[in-house]
Amino acid sequence: MFRRLFTVFIFIFLGMQMAFSSEVFKITSINLDTSNSLILLSSSMSQVQSEMNNVKIGVLSNPKRLYFDLKGATLNIGPQNWYFNSKDIKQVRVSQFNPETVRVVLYTSDNFDKSKISLIKSDKTLIIQLKDVVCETDYFQQVYTDEKTSSGKYYENLSISDTDINAIKSAESAIESQDIMKQVQNAFSGQTVVQKKPIIKDLKLKTGYYITSLTMNNNGILLSGVGEVTLEKPMILSNPKRIVFDIPNSITAYNILNKTKTVGGVSFRVGQFSTSKSRLVITSENVDYSPVYSPDGQSVLFINNSSMPTQKRNNAVRYYKDKSNFIISFDAPVVHGIKRTSEGVVVNLYNTYSFNEKDFNEAIAQSPFRQMKVSLLPKVGLSLSLPLEKNAVFNGYLGADGKAIKLSLKNVQTKIEKPKPNIPEKPLKFKGKAIVIVDAGHGGHDYGAMREGVNEKDINLDIATMVAQNLTKSGVNVVMTRDSDEFISLPDRVSICSNNNADLFVSVHVNASVKPEINGIETHYYNQNSLSFANTVHECIINRVAKKDRGVFKSKFYVINHTEVPAILVEVGFISNETERNELAAKDRKQATAKAISEGIIKYLNLK
Ligand SMILES: [Zn+2]
Repeated sequence: MFRRLFTVFIFIFLGMQMAFSSEVFKITSINLDTSNSLILLSSSMSQVQSEMNNVKIGVLSNPKRLYFDLKGATLNIGPQNWYFNSKDIKQVRVSQFNPETVRVVLYTSDNFDKSKISLIKSDKTLIIQLKDVVCETDYFQQVYTDEKTSSGKYYENLSISDTDINAIKSAESAIESQDIMKQVQNAFSGQTVVQKKPIIKDLKLKTGYYITSLTMNNNGILLSGVGEVTLEKPMILSNPKRIVFDIPNSITAYNILNKTKTVGGVSFRVGQFSTSKSRLVITSENVDYSPVYSPDGQSVLFINNSSMPTQKRNNAVRYYKDKSNFIISFDAPVVHGIKRTSEGVVVNLYNTYSFNEKDFNEAIAQSPFRQMKVSLLPKVGLSLSLPLEKNAVFNGYLGADGKAIKLSLKNVQTKIEKPKPNIPEKPLKFKGKAIVIVDAGHGGHDYGAMREGVNEKDINLDIATMVAQNLTKSGVNVVMTRDSDEFISLPDRVSICSNNNADLFVSVHVNASVKPEINGIETHYYNQNSLSFANTVHECIINRVAKKDRGVFKSKFYVINHTEVPAILVEVGFISNETERNELAAKDRKQATAKAISEGIIKYLNLK
C-alpha cells in the first residue's frame, strides 16, 4: 500500500537540508489531505528532486510558527491559507516569500513538537507530513449526499462501458480526436472558488440551491448559483423540440426568471416550476444535452453532445485511504458526477484521463473501497463504481481547490471490526445423515506459510481436528484428509472427497501476505453450488471470531475447484500479521474458529 511507498521517500527531518539541481520547482497546486494530515505541494512539471534546490526550516515566535523555505520554487497560484481546528496546527500559509523562495508557514501551538513533521518527496510532489496531528478544516466540502428518500436525482446520462482496466490505456488515443474536456475546463475556469453554504437568509423556503445566472458561452449553457445543484431526469418534448431539466429544491433569482435568451438558434430559459422547483428549458433542433457538474458542485454546464473538441488533461495522481474514506488527488480540478444506483455508487470523473493502477489498487486493498472498479467512459474520462449494501451511507466531498475528491463510506458491515459478540453456546445438532470432509491444508514437508517459527500446517491441523470433533459430537459423519502431520497431495485430497460420497468439503488454511499489516478472515468458493455454503460458514466465523472481515471470494483453488459437492476453503487469518499469528498459535482463537466453522456446517446442513 501507499504508505510503504512513502517511507521509501522519507528523506529528511527538521534541520536537514536537501540538495538538488538548480531548476525551478513550479508549484501548480497545493492540496491538503486532512484525513492523513498531509500538505501536498505539487508541480505539473517533472520530478521534485530535479527541480528543487533545498528546503530550509526555521522557527519564529509571537505567534509561534514554523516555516519551510523552498528555495528555487515558484508558486504558480496565489498565496494559500488554511485555518485548522486543531490543537497542534492553527493555520497553514503558503506564499511566494521572495522571487526564488516559496515559504510554507505552520502556525503551531506553543508546545508543538517539531519532530512530528517530516518531508516526503514523491514524484512531482513535496509532501509535508504532520504525524499524529489532527487537522480539521473545511478543505473538503460536501458535494453529494446519499439520501434514500430523494428519488430521481440525476447526475449524468453517459453510459459506462464494460471495458476492463487495460482498455483505459487506449482511452488516451480515443481522446486525441474528440475531447470535450478543455471546453469543460474553460467553461468552469474561475469557478472553483468555494462559496460556503447558501446565503439566502431572506428566503423563506428551505432550499438547497439558489440559481443566480444562466448564460451561454462557447462551451454550452451554463447554469450557476449558490448551494448544491441536483437535476431530475430530463424530458424531451416536441413542437418545438426542447429538453427540460427540473432542478428540485431550488429557487431562481428574480432578475433571470423566465427571461428567454436566444443564441444561434438555441433558446433557453429558467422558470420557477413550483415553489421549490426550478425548470430549465432548452429549445433547439438538437436537444442532445448532457449536464456536467463544475468542480465546486455549484454550476452545471449543459453541453451539446454533438459539438466537442480539445486536449487538456487531468490525471488522478495520488490516493489515500483510511477506515472510511478514500481520497483521490488530481493535477487539475476534476469535473465529476456521482450517482447512487441500485447496486452501489458510480463516480464519473469526466476529465480524468489517467490513473496509477498500482497505487490505486494498493490504496484500496484493505479499505471498504476494495471492490471499487475503474472503467472507461469512452472519450470522456473514467468511471469508478463501487457495489454497496443497502444500508451503507455514501458521501462525496470535493477539495476546496477542486483537485481532490473524498469518498466516504459509513455503515459498511463487512469492514467494521465488531466487538466480540456474546454468542450463546447452543448445542450443535444435526439429525440427518451427512458426510463432511474436513481438510487440514498442507502437512509433512509442505509447511504452508511459515513465520517466526509458526507453521501454517500445524494451525490448520489443530483447527481441522477441533472441527471434526465438534461435528462428530453433533452427529455428523466426518472424514479428515489427514489427522497427523503428513503430506497429502491435492488430487489425493479430492479423491478422498469423491471416494467417501461426501456431502460437503471444507479446507482449512492460514493466509499470508508480504504486507505485515494485512489481517482478517476470508472464505473462498469456486463452484456456484458452494456460494451459500461459503456465505453461511463465513458469517458464522465473522460473528464468533469478530476479526476483520475480508469477504467471500470466488477463487480457483485446486481442492475447491475439483470437488463436485459444495466445497469451501477458509483462510482463518494471516500468519504474516504479528497479532493474528500470536492469536492463531494460541488455543482461544483456534477453538473459536473451529466452533464457528462447525456451526456454519451444521447450519448449512440443517437448511438443506
Ligand atoms: Zn495454505
